Amino acid sequence: MQRFTHSSWPARIVFGRGKVAETAAEVQRLGACRALVLCTPHQRAEAQALAEGLGPVAAGVFDAATMHTPVAVTACAVEAYAALRADCVVALGGGSTTGLGKAIAARTCAPQVVIPTTYAGSEVTAILGETDAGVKTTRRGAEILPEVVIYDPDLTDTLPAALSITSGLNAMAHAAEGVYAEDGSPIFTLMAVEGLRALREALPAIAVDPADREARDVALYGAWLCGTVLGGVGMSVHHKLCHTLGGSLNLPHAETHAILLPHTIGFVEEARPDLLAPVASLFGGRAGAGLHDFAAGIRAPLRLADLGVTEAQLDPLAAEAVANPYWCPRPLDRQAIRAVLQNAWAGERPR
Ligand code: NAD
Repeated sequence: MQRFTHSSWPARIVFGRGKVAETAAEVQRLGACRALVLCTPHQRAEAQALAEGLGPVAAGVFDAATMHTPVAVTACAVEAYAALRADCVVALGGGSTTGLGKAIAARTCAPQVVIPTTYAGSEVTAILGETDAGVKTTRRGAEILPEVVIYDPDLTDTLPAALSITSGLNAMAHAAEGVYAEDGSPIFTLMAVEGLRALREALPAIAVDPADREARDVALYGAWLCGTVLGGVGMSVHHKLCHTLGGSLNLPHAETHAILLPHTIGFVEEARPDLLAPVASLFGGRAGAGLHDFAAGIRAPLRLADLGVTEAQLDPLAAEAVANPYWCPRPLDRQAIRAVLQNAWAGERPR
């Protein structure tokens, strides 16, 4: 039996179709009575409808959530929170909106109810990434962790197929790295494998029919599990490379995860196939190559070149990634990481 220490964050998870109707009750359960509803401009109509449903429990809607949580947007949101005498936030949206809720909570101790509409997983982590003048910083803390998550698959039915696929692969990346985490545990491995299994089942069905309600339910269940793994254990080479590329080149978050996943997992698998065995068994016996075939089969993006990355950028990116590495079961060397980036740039199947 492996030696381990397991610790996890508290979580209140409300799951199921129609559960968004319980938002007011969840707000009141937290001892709050005036919720500031958060969203992106794109999801304004859904947030407005939610606020109307909340009636007197809604203090207003703030609709300027933005990718990478810029501190200037947070400052405006905190002003609105105070001006409207809000006493909690309800974040309806993907990781960007959840990030804004966390940023408000970090400054005001506002309790948070999150209603995720993508598979990013941020809602079950105590991690907040923020940007100030283009520089991204990350912090962690109990005050950042949302108190309640309402997973209502009704709200994911509108997520376009392409974004569903990249967002689902983003979730799978949390689980795939969770199985070899330095601080992993058998419970997190169970969650990771179950999360991967659920998304392996659901994403091909969503790719064919984004209105497949059963697949949507399974995908959101998988996303919860994968997100919980992200929140519970340390991530490694995959997340490091995504942060390096995302930060340096401002690449789209979910697509970058989707493209790199087979290559980073293949990189670890080459040295430590034993650690990746639970993932390999779900994907035809090989984790890296299997994830590549899976992604190709659901028409996920496969090439960094398609995101506008040039071959000339790969050398400096490899240098940056190994300069300040995260813990990894296979030590990062610049040449090997350069080869990983080359393969991801060209969309080659991992060996
Ligand atoms: P996102 O939140 O930026 O959403 C992308 C777009 O899709 C937005 O315009 C949004 O309004 C729209 N959208 C979301 N759900 C929709 C739906 N159901 N129907 C139609 N449109 C919908 O994308 P994301 O990938 O969820 O989040 C990415 C951000 O989350 C990044 O900034 C990333 O750093 C952060 N993140 C943080 C953590 C963490 O633990 N701190 C974890 C994962 C991601």
